[in-house]
Amino acid sequence: MSRIKDIRFILKKYTYKRPFCIAYGFVTETENIEIEVITESGIVGYGESAPSFRINGETPEMILALESKVKDMILDKEIRHYREIFNITDKLLSSPSLKAGVQFAVIDALCKECEIDAWEFFGGVKNEIETDRTVSVRSIEDRIEEAIEIYKEGFRIIKIKVGEDLNKDLEAVYEICRNTEGCRYIVDANENYTLKDAVYFVKKLYSNGIDISVFEQPVSRYDIEGLKYVRFNSPFPICADESLKTKYNALKLIKEEAVDMFNIKLMKSGISDAIAIVELAKTANIKLMIGCVSESSIGINQSVQFACGIGCFDFCDLDSHLMLEESDFRGSFRQVGSKILVG
Ligand code: MN
Repeated sequence: MSRIKDIRFILKKYTYKRPFCIAYGFVTETENIEIEVITESGIVGYGESAPSFRINGETPEMILALESKVKDMILDKEIRHYREIFNITDKLLSSPSLKAGVQFAVIDALCKECEIDAWEFFGGVKNEIETDRTVSVRSIEDRIEEAIEIYKEGFRIIKIKVGEDLNKDLEAVYEICRNTEGCRYIVDANENYTLKDAVYFVKKLYSNGIDISVFEQPVSRYDIEGLKYVRFNSPFPICADESLKTKYNALKLIKEEAVDMFNIKLMKSGISDAIAIVELAKTANIKLMIGCVSESSIGINQSVQFACGIGCFDFCDLDSHLMLEESDFRGSFRQVGSKILVG
């Protein structure tokens, strides 16, 4: 038996190697909160919360302010009864990234106590995944240059951010595809197209012989009808990202037949809802991607362990740690080019 004796929140600041730009916004640094769960036997479980104001309405200050609340909620709880801790931390409704960090830290401590790896705890299906890398929204020249750089580093799945200017986006996608032969492409508009533009965009790509694997969150997160409209007018699969945070969102998207794929991020759902969404998706024949927010290596480790263990992600977009300046690599995985290995 091992009960939680202490919980620590530690603020960490990271700088991006170069500004990361999506439609109508960019970031140059991030403040993440490391979560340590300490058991009575002295085991320390590590988790990370990467708060996102754009996605979740969270700030680092909000997360830090919840330290004593989280202690009230789960101090003295038995880590082997992790489902009970999941049920309690499901109440962190307005801070899903904190829910993720706390839930993973509990699992990390439990795995250390039981001497198994977290990817085995989650099911042990795979010990290797392949990640994409992301091209920011910039000038067309800069976007092509960044894509070629990624290609030369050996990445064969490229995520292209769009959503700012329809014609420039089309040209950027054409040029990137022309310069990176043999790659698969995820195109992400981060909610920033109108319905009309989204449909025009995919039809134009298709008629020009461009094949993309996924078109992610073309329209507003609240426009479920709109997502469905794009889906039924698109030659390419449509993926929900911002529209999908909780298992209840997943159920609604399935009922409405709105998308072909879900992009699960632990920072939106925590571990508990991510597990539920995986099962809903498998039941409804929805494909799966796992994504990230601005996690450092210790935070990406959470998604790596989850994705390998669960083993059912068609695409892994786990590249935020590769974008941050970090003095020490702290994941329990190995990054070999685009490959991520555990075990
Ligand atoms: Mn996205």
